[in-house]
Amino acid sequence: MYMTIGVIVLFLIGHSASMITKQKEKAVYNKGQCMCGGEFIPYELQTKHEIGWICDNCGTTVRTTWIKLARGEEDDE
Ligand SMILES: [Zn+2]
Repeated sequence: MYMTIGVIVLFLIGHSASMITKQKEKAVYNKGQCMCGGEFIPYELQTKHEIGWICDNCGTTVRTTWIKLARGEEDDE
């Protein structure tokens, strides 16, 4: 019983942590538009699920785990 509750609690903590990460990434990525007015272009593919973006104007980098490169749009699962 307590084990089950523990697993559920851990799952919820992990889930909300990844949601927060996603929101932060979204805020920085800003639909591909950098704060400086430049555009984020993909420069590195770490894994199938993580993309590195670099601003073509100021060089700011951001990583996203929720954008599919091929489509260039959000993956809401
Ligand atoms: Zn920039």
